[in-house]
Amino acid sequence: MNTNMLDKKTPAATPYNQIKAVIERQRAYFNSGETKPVKFRKQKIKALKKAMKANEPAIIDALKKDFRKSGFESYVTEIGLVYEEINHILTHLSDWAEPRHVGTPLSQFKGSSYVHRVPFGVTLIIGPWNYPFQLAILPAIGAVAGGNTCIIKPSELTENTAVVLAGIIEAVFEEGHVAVVQGGVETSTALLAEKFDHIFFTGSEYVGKIVARAAAEYLTPTTLELGGKSPCIVDKDADQKVAARRIVWGKYINAGQTCVAPDYLLVHRDIKDKFLPLLKDAASTFYGDNPKASEDYPRIINRKNFDRLSGFLAEGEVVMGGESDADELYIAPTILDKISWHDAIMQEEIFGPVLPVLTFTDLDEVITTLNDHPRPLSLYYFSGNKKNQKRIVENVNFGGGCINDTLVHLANPNLPFGGTGNSGIGAYHGKASFETFTQQKSIMKKATWIDVPLRYPPYSGKMGLVKKVIK
Ligand code: NAD
Repeated sequence: MNTNMLDKKTPAATPYNQIKAVIERQRAYFNSGETKPVKFRKQKIKALKKAMKANEPAIIDALKKDFRKSGFESYVTEIGLVYEEINHILTHLSDWAEPRHVGTPLSQFKGSSYVHRVPFGVTLIIGPWNYPFQLAILPAIGAVAGGNTCIIKPSELTENTAVVLAGIIEAVFEEGHVAVVQGGVETSTALLAEKFDHIFFTGSEYVGKIVARAAAEYLTPTTLELGGKSPCIVDKDADQKVAARRIVWGKYINAGQTCVAPDYLLVHRDIKDKFLPLLKDAASTFYGDNPKASEDYPRIINRKNFDRLSGFLAEGEVVMGGESDADELYIAPTILDKISWHDAIMQEEIFGPVLPVLTFTDLDEVITTLNDHPRPLSLYYFSGNKKNQKRIVENVNFGGGCINDTLVHLANPNLPFGGTGNSGIGAYHGKASFETFTQQKSIMKKATWIDVPLRYPPYSGKMGLVKKVIK
């Protein structure tokens, strides 16, 4: 049964004239000042949580229809993560929004200085399909927390989720504050032709460049949350059993369609033969001997990605999985051994349940090789050696990651989440979201009871004194 394509609700693309009208309404609403009081922002975020609670079954059902995601995974990765972010923001927002006082040099006597974080205005959020609810709503929460209005353009590939998302947003926000605009590439293109005050994009590097080019037209600040090939290194002193479980979990959750999934393994040559069977054990414990029958194993999003991933299955040597079924868009959790840096699978982000294995003997070589490649969004290093953990963190360029785990750095709202270079620009989650969606307005407040004449012309005879103050 092709569960992936059954019973899809297709939201109609929002007509262009309506897009323009929404942007105008949002600009007027922003200019009215309604979005700015912190109390109002918190009320709306609280109401959003309440609406999510009421719609949990609908969200889970939509994700199941879109790519057969299990209820447990949907709750943890699409809903629970958002609740944690909301709780964190509600606890700290009043504090973050307070002007931050900073020192003032003596040369500016008598003055005080502070940084006020103010909203940008009308913002645009473009989301991907792989965590279609969370990756659209989390930045929107940041936008509202910052006092902005926002338009969300969810992915057109996960239509059921896009419909539920729009329903929740409409129930909580008036259109002038937060609105969902539906559609695919044309809709995105139409949106990007308009002027926004901030653009937050999550998706591929390729489209990230299109967004950056469009933003350049108006010099709009952008946050780009992109992807890349995230390495997972297993050193010879790692706790191998724990490593195997955490890698298999992080790779095959969402059938590998996770921006921070371990893309490929770099295993120390001395332990590879012992380690690969541990990965197989973990996978069969999680998904059984026939993962196709497992309720917990999702499907590939569409035929295009299925075909792309199937092409990799002929590379190297299959040590686990390798089966696929086009009718069900199913690709088994797969491990490929004997892969080299030159194979096709190593030339692009995999974004699916296929794990190539490469080996290494020298950590310095690993560092050099990784730095010769595009900067990944994440990196995972499994080792008990603290010195080597520090070497990896300090010497390899990557967005963020974990020591002795995978993925979980993005589940801590205290950690800014984002890429570097080609894996992204900027960060969000928790305070970083608030900062991403606000501008730092620097203010120096001067007293008028004194007006030191030193700075005013004529300058003759003042150099000596100025050099005493500014040195
Ligand atoms: P995508 O770039 O194809 O699409 C993302 C969004 O851009 C969609 O809403 C789509 O409608 C829109 N879009 C597509 N083509 C466009 C065009 N030509 N002009 C304007 N807009 C366009 O990405 P995707 O396939 O939805 O997601 C997969 C990619 O996203 C992977 O590279 C993955 O690593 C990355 N990703 C990154 C993160 C992160 O947080 N850094 C999270 C999830 C996914």
